[in-house]
Amino acid sequence: MKIIYPGSFDPITYGHLDIIERISKKFNKVYVAILNNKNKNSLFTIEERKKIILDSCKHLNNVEVVSFSGLLADFAKELDCNLIARGLREVSDYEKEVQMALMNKELYSDLETLFLVSNYKYSFLSSSLVKEIISFGGDIDKFVSPMAVQMMKEKYSE
Ligand code: ADP
Repeated sequence: MKIIYPGSFDPITYGHLDIIERISKKFNKVYVAILNNKNKNSLFTIEERKKIILDSCKHLNNVEVVSFSGLLADFAKELDCNLIARGLREVSDYEKEVQMALMNKELYSDLETLFLVSNYKYSFLSSSLVKEIISFGGDIDKFVSPMAVQMMKEKYSE
């Protein structure tokens, strides 16, 4: 069975990676799907985000990194995959995530969303917080891969 793990991954954090490692053990194939959202101000291009994800997932042989724009429901149909994985951190994730899961089901009735409770070690972690910390010169080694740290440092020194 196949599963899609969609997100912005700007950049991928150890919290995302924890979810990917967990689903890669349970499913034959995991599509990590980078959302190409033109409205979001992103730090990295899709290609840069893909490079970091591939580097972080090189020990997982059933993970494929793809990108999409438009509706996730349409992209899921394209991939012939009817299961989405999402991570739940705090209660605050819940409302937005349930709304999205219901809407996706409305758009594609066979599409199910599987929620994984975040590892408690990473339940406070988000890509945006990591960007904020590094922009003020803080240490982010515990949260993202060495490649992501390096590429973020380059971005913020530009
Ligand atoms: P989005 O912009 O769609 O929220 P993200 O890349 O931030 O995309 O997140 C993608 C998915 O990963 C979401 O389901 C989000 O809840 C989950 N996620 C983000 N950070 C963590 C974390 N630290 N631990 C577990 N899941 C996480």
